[in-house]
Parts: sequence; structure tokens; C-alpha cells
Amino acid sequence: MVTFADVAEAAVRLSGVANRTPVVTSRRIDAALGLHVELKCENLQRVGAFKFRGAYNALARFDAEQRSRGVVAFSSGNHAQAVALAARLLGIPATIVMPHDAPRSKVAATRGYGATVRPYDRYTEDRAAIAASLAAEQGLTVIPPFDHPDVIAGQGTAALELFADVSALDALVVPLGGGGLLAGSLLAAGALAPRCRVYGVEPAAGNDGQQSLRAGRIVTIEPPQTIADGAQTTQLGTLTFPIIAERVTDIVTVDDAALTAAMRTLAATTKLVVEPTGCLGFAGLESLRETLAGTRVGVILSGGNVDLDVLAGALRP
Ligand SMILES: *Cc1c(COP(=O)(O)O)cnc(C)c1O
Repeated sequence: MVTFADVAEAAVRLSGVANRTPVVTSRRIDAALGLHVELKCENLQRVGAFKFRGAYNALARFDAEQRSRGVVAFSSGNHAQAVALAARLLGIPATIVMPHDAPRSKVAATRGYGATVRPYDRYTEDRAAIAASLAAEQGLTVIPPFDHPDVIAGQGTAALELFADVSALDALVVPLGGGGLLAGSLLAAGALAPRCRVYGVEPAAGNDGQQSLRAGRIVTIEPPQTIADGAQTTQLGTLTFPIIAERVTDIVTVDDAALTAAMRTLAATTKLVVEPTGCLGFAGLESLRETLAGTRVGVILSGGNVDLDVLAGALRP
């Protein structure tokens, strides 16, 4: 079981290693939405996404044997870079199982941090099985992208910082893939801002989280086709689901057109580059604005790793 104490310990471990990312506001955004919005800029985190928090927290807890043998991770991108950098900082060898169609920038960055990349086909191969066999053959420790206690605790430190840095929030809106970020955020909110409503936002094409919440059990879907490549997950985790089901206010969805529009709005108003998945929370405000009218809303901009041609396409009117 993961608790807020684990999130607080992760914050100590990450202090001086992860960036304490800035919180940005925009009068134009507030006026357009009728909300007061506080944007937590995890696009400015090391490796360009919050995933550095969970990865570093997990790897920093390895014992000497685990450190010398190494880590293996599977990821559509940001977790890969996060594990690769955390491993490099801690002197741990890293192997990353990545989809063959992952964004070029993410593959290049992962190799750049010194990790070995093992490509796979996301529509025909099982990445978890590949990682498990590498782990068995070479004695590597598997660090999954969301369903691990130390990963969830690390991801919760972004919300912990936000609650500490801004005055009382009425709501927090968080991108949702496998649920590590949302589960960690819920643990932070439960301890630091118990009256704050917390929403998850996932791609409309892959609304397994919303379906799972409604069904009261983990619903599995086919790999969704969406530009939100960091949220192409097929199911919530066995650790993340119970935390989300117990504590989340609701899960809403946004389509790809809304994500593209959000990238453009954020670039124009805040000058921030945010990747499509990183825009999920901000884009979700559109469907929550009536419910939350006039309130103070925190939004996690979860990452900024977008290929420049995709960014250029989004910026073109
Ligand atoms: C991984 C990721 C998410 C989803 O996080 P989960 O912990 O899997 O829910 C959201 N945004 C970005 C930028 C990511 O890399």
C-alpha cells in the first residue's frame, strides 16, 4: 500500500535532484475560462516530464545488488528518458523497451542518456513480457511506468509542491494514462488539501479509466489511437486503480482536436511548449468550467516532449 508518508519521503529524496518546477498563471486563460488557473509546469522538469520524479525515487531505493545488475523499463517515451537519466545519475546500467513508433525525439533522448534501447511493435508484442524475460536472463530490476509504489509516491511530489506553493485550490486537474500521476496526486491532495476536488483527464479514444471508475473494476481496452502518446495505456494498474476509485472526484475525456487547440493556446498565452499528453489536464478544463466556475484550479502540465513537426502542425491556424 502507498500512503502520503511515501510521497513525503520521495519529496525529501528528490530535493536538489528534481527541479521544483514553476507555477504559471495567465489572465487571458482565466478570462477565457472563467476560472483562476495555476499551471504546474512539469514540462520544465528534468527530461521534460514529471516521470523523472517517480523513476528517480524508485531507482534511489535500489540495494547494492540491484544497482550493479541494472534496471529495465518499458515505455512509450517519457518514462524511458526518466529511467535512463535517473540510472545515469545513480550509476546504474539501464535497458529500455520502447515502441518502434515512439516519437523520434524520445528515442534519441533515451539513447543520449546512455541507455540501451530494445524496440518492439506495440500492436503485436507484449512489452511487459519482453522486460520480464530481460529481467530473468540478466537479473535486471523492472521499473514499470506507473504500477509501482515508489513510482506512484514520486509522481505525487508534483502535486505536493503545487499545494505548498499556491494558496488553497478548489480543484486539481491531472492527465491520466496508467494512473501513477493521478494516484500520487490524490495521496498528496488527501493529506494537504482534503477539500480539493481532483479530476483525471484521459484521451476520448482511450477512456478505460472512466469506464473502470463507472464499472468499479479495471476495464481493459485495445491500444488507443491518439496524439496523446503518453496516455496510450490499455488499463489502469492494480495499485493505481484502488487509490483512484476511492478518492477521485471524476474522470473526464478530451479528443485530439482539443489537445491540439490546447497546445496552441498554451504556446500563445504562456509561451510554454507542452506535448499533447501534457495538455490533457488543461484541455479538460473546457468540460469542467461550468462545474468549477469562479474557483481556483490547479492543472498539471505533465510534459513538454513533442517532435517539432507535430508542434508546428498544432501552431499552424
Ligand atoms: C506518462 C505520462 C502521463 C500519464 O501518466 P500516468 O502516470 O501513466 O497516468 C501524462 N503526461 C505525460 C507527459 C506523461 O509522460
